[in-house]
Order: sequence, then C-alpha cells, then structure tokens
Amino acid sequence: MVEAVLLGTGAALHPGRGHSSLLVIGPGEPLLVDAGCTVPHSLARAGFNPASISRVIVTHGHADHYCGLTHIAFMKTFTGTPELVVYTTGHAKPLVEGLLASIHKPGAVRARVEVLAPGGAYTIGPYRVRTFRAVHSVEALSLEISVDGRRILVSGDTEPTREYRILAGGADLAVHEASLPEPRPGSGHSSVSEALEQVSQARMGLLYHLTPDSEEAALRVGARLPGDLYRVEL
Ligand SMILES: [Zn+2]
Ligand SMILES: [Zn+2]
Repeated sequence: MVEAVLLGTGAALHPGRGHSSLLVIGPGEPLLVDAGCTVPHSLARAGFNPASISRVIVTHGHADHYCGLTHIAFMKTFTGTPELVVYTTGHAKPLVEGLLASIHKPGAVRARVEVLAPGGAYTIGPYRVRTFRAVHSVEALSLEISVDGRRILVSGDTEPTREYRILAGGADLAVHEASLPEPRPGSGHSSVSEALEQVSQARMGLLYHLTPDSEEAALRVGARLPGDLYRVEL
C-alpha cells in the first residue's frame, strides 16, 4: 500500500496553514517532497520522527520549500541517523548546502545534495522519479513519482504546464499548487481554476500552496480543500 500525507497546504505567508509539502509513504523509507519551516513539526504530528527522514526532494530554491531542512539536520545531530540526501535543482544546491553547513559542525551530520535536472529519470530507494520543468520565478521542478504500482504528480510552484496536465491523466494522485484567486500569466503561479483543470483527469486531485485569497476563490466555486496532515491511501 502507498500512502500520501499533505504535511502542509499553505503558501509562504499563510497564517493558518503550514508550508506546502507532501510525504509519500511507499515500502521502506518515506520520500519527502519539499521541507519548508513548518514541515518538521508537521512530520512529528503525523507520527514521523523528523530525524528519521533520509530522502528529501526540494522542488526549487525558495525558503518555504527548504528552510525545514535546518531542523531535520539538527535533529540528526542527536540521533546520528541516517544520512540525509537532498535532491534539488542546480540553482537551489548551494542554498541548501549553505543552510546545512550553518547548523552543524562539519561531520556532525552526514548530508549531501544531489542535483536533479529537468527531463530526468531517477531512482531514489523504491521510488522512480521523473522530473520536468515548472514555470516559476526561479529554476523549479514538477515531479512524477511512481512507487509500488501507484503514480503521483506533484506540481511544486508553477504556472499550469501542458506536461503536467498530460501526465496527470490517470494518475492515482495529482497535487497542484493554487496560489492565486485568478489566473495571472507571468506570475509563476496557478489560480484555483487552472489548478482544478490541471488535476481534472487524475483519479484524485488535491490543491495546495493556498493563500487566503485563493481559498476564498475555491470556496466560491465549491471546491473542497485539504487541510494540513490530510492523509490518503492510494
Ligand atoms: Zn512556495
Ligand atoms: Zn517558489
């Protein structure tokens, strides 16, 4: 069985929702997608010791997607387990490395950062990950994660892309950002109506990276929104 937990569903400054993050739980170790500042606390509330997390994909180099790595690495200085491997863009690699270096003495935590290129296919433990280019203000990735016969799409921060829309068709779960109340081309983000369209051909679609304005827009069209720690079995 594969499970997915939305650890956070808010954009960077949402006062009532944590930073957007998805935990995919396949056989063996879970895979964390994005680790904003609120994510370690959400992991603990979902029953996972943050120190036990060893594989993290950071979709792009904005702090609301990686600042929680500080605390995860800090927790590991107490437990010593296991090595932390962060997979991210070339743009974000030095940012993540700088952050990890800032919280511990060299060697106190085993950690390394690997670069994911758009259009790549990677094996991360039991997870098969395909990356494709997101449309955002910095280099950013959307992901297709396959594990144990299930297929999950994660948009990260992006405007709607054709590739996501196509790959979301028939996916077991499609998670898409909905930061905006109305479409705004060039903003690097998606509106609620665009996000709903992007996930419409998936078996299950969930919106995240919400703002108070986009929540209001979602309620106006009758869309149900997940809360933090929303958990689904796939
Ligand atoms: Zn963001
Ligand atoms: Zn961003």
